[in-house]
Formats: sequence, structure tokens, C-alpha cells
Amino acid sequence: MNLPDYSQCVEINQLLIAMGVTQIPLLPEVRFEREIVTRFQREYLDPEDVKIGKKLIDSVIPVTKSDIAGKPGELLEYKGRKVVAYIRDQKAAVNFYYHYSGYKYHLCNCVTLQTMRDIGREHRYLATQRKDGMFEVHDLTVDPIQSGIVKMDLCKNCVEILKQKGIYYNPFNLEDYFSKYDSYTPKTIRKIEEVRKIQTYSPNQDDYSREYRRACNNKCQVCQVDCTEYTGILHLHHIDGNPANNERHNLQILCVDCHSKQPLHGHMLRNPEFKRQINTITQLRIDQGILTV
Ligand SMILES: [Zn+2]
Ligand SMILES: [Zn+2]
Ligand SMILES: [Zn+2]
Repeated sequence: MNLPDYSQCVEINQLLIAMGVTQIPLLPEVRFEREIVTRFQREYLDPEDVKIGKKLIDSVIPVTKSDIAGKPGELLEYKGRKVVAYIRDQKAAVNFYYHYSGYKYHLCNCVTLQTMRDIGREHRYLATQRKDGMFEVHDLTVDPIQSGIVKMDLCKNCVEILKQKGIYYNPFNLEDYFSKYDSYTPKTIRKIEEVRKIQTYSPNQDDYSREYRRACNNKCQVCQVDCTEYTGILHLHHIDGNPANNERHNLQILCVDCHSKQPLHGHMLRNPEFKRQINTITQLRIDQGILTV
């Protein structure tokens, strides 16, 4: 006949511990740290918007009906930016020798532009933010077509509109015009970013209790009863009786029954609440197949 393995028996283990034959193992080390997540919003320049901006400064963009905003008489805008509109493919009046063309550039949705739009020739216009008053043009009157950089004057209709708005001055200068009236704010993309940091903290009694119970997988260090469902019956025991001494070697995680068997803890058995909890422990041990006498 095989005898049960009494080395795993709760009462025998409790007895051996009380006699000092075996010792309750030292608690696993616990780090009192928590993760601090800081969220902040970061803004990035919209790369598409940056691309449009660069293109308008370095070169030209074809103007189509939908692109040029503004009612008649308003300043020309392309996707929110003030622009100059002009015709690049010119059929007269280009003089590359003097770097001059008799064609005019526009800053406003003037009568000329509206007429061109009405007769379907708006597509001939290009938008740019070039600020030096010089324009790249093609002379279509020669074969092969010649291109070059020329100076052009502001359209007379546009001058009138600017005068009415009180923003015309002589001599007119595109650099000034853009710096004063192009108040475009670059488009940005917002992203929420997180920074995670591990911070150590000074634990209080509850923290010690909770973290050491977790480190023991919610099991009593003596009888191994699993108290996951009833963590309240798993106690943090201070070996020297000093609740302020939370050094690891002074602490043990014990179920209420094993706790009550510690030296000078007999008074626990007079507490009806603890007695009820001990009954729960007894039931849990049976459920969990833990050997008892
Ligand atoms: Zn004009
Ligand atoms: Zn126990
Ligand atoms: Zn205790």
C-alpha cells in the first residue's frame, strides 16, 4: 500500500516551518515601477502642400478654372496662396535683347482675365510666385520657338483694382506685394505621439501587498493554495511584526490560515471574519487537490 506523500501536506509543512526545520522561501524580487505614457500632438508640414509651394516659387503651374479662386475684382490665389498669372506662350511684343515683353501680368481677377475665361482661353495662363518681376516666356513668332526671361508690367486693370483696395504703390514691386499680402499658412498634418517612460515609485502598503501577491501568482508561500479568486484572504505578513519594515526579507505572502499559525498570531483565530476566511481556504485546498491531514 502506498502512503500519501505527506511532504506535500499543509499541516505537516506548517509544523516543519513552526519548528524551524524548513523555511518559507524568500519572496521574488519586485520592481516598483510604472509606465508613464505622455501623449502630445505634433505637427508636420503637409508634404503635398510644401510641394505646391516650392513649385510655385521655382516654376509655374497651369491655371485652370477651378484653381483660381476669388470673385471678380479679388486678388488671385492658387490653393490659398497669392499668385501672379501670366501668359507664357506669347505671339507678339517679346524682345529678348532688352529682356522685355509688352504682355502684362495679373494679380487680380480683372476684366482681362474674366474675358479670357469667358472665351475659354484661361488655360493659357500660368500661376507663379516668382517675386523678381521676371517671367519665363516663349516667343511663338519665331521658328524654332525661342525662350527666355523677360520683364513685364502689371496689367492696367489690376493696377486700378489695387488702387481701389489701397494697396498700390509706385514703383510696384512683387517682392513687397507677396511679403505683405500673401499671408498663407502652410498646411500641417497633426499626429498624436506617445512617449513611454518607466518610472520607479515609492510603494505604500497596498503596493507591496499587491505586487508581492502577483509575484507569488496569488499563491500562499506555505501551502500553495491559489487565491486568485479571493485575493483578500492572501496576506502580507511582516516577520518581525513591524508593519513599517517592508524589506523583502521581512515579508511573506501567506493565506489567512498559514498566517494565523505564525508566532504571536493566535489572536487571528478569535476574529470571526478570519475564521470565515479560513473555511474558504479549506474549501479552496480541497478544490485544488492540496493534501491535508
Ligand atoms: Zn489684370
Ligand atoms: Zn497557506
Ligand atoms: Zn503577520
